[in-house]
Amino acid sequence: MYKDEDEETPYNISLGDDRGALMSAIKSLLFDNSDLPDGCVQSATSFAGFLHNDVDAYDPIEDFNFGGVGNGGWQTMWSRMMNGTTHQPRNQPRGAVTVAHEIGHVFDRAHVDCNNPDGPDPNYPYDPCIG
Ligand SMILES: [Zn+2]
Repeated sequence: MYKDEDEETPYNISLGDDRGALMSAIKSLLFDNSDLPDGCVQSATSFAGFLHNDVDAYDPIEDFNFGGVGNGGWQTMWSRMMNGTTHQPRNQPRGAVTVAHEIGHVFDRAHVDCNNPDGPDPNYPYDPCIG
């Protein structure tokens, strides 16, 4: 996906405006396109975008390296398919872990209360910081 119809300008994920525009573009594929595959019902369908590992996703304003975003209300997510990790071996490959994480957000799950995330789920029933 590109920002322009000529497909010359990619989204710059290090910019908040472009992250939002990318999410809107993915959302429009679902909500503005009635040509869903056979058997897909809009209310039960989510769309996902996958970005190359090499995409620069560091936002200097937020001082955060974005791996993905999931939006339940829009039934939409994107994830950077990171192939490296600084996490434990069970959390690899990192891109796949991020996809699972963002799918959780698409299904309206908040973060677990580990490492001081924004808006944690106070009702998460298990240890949020396993080993
Ligand atoms: Zn998250």
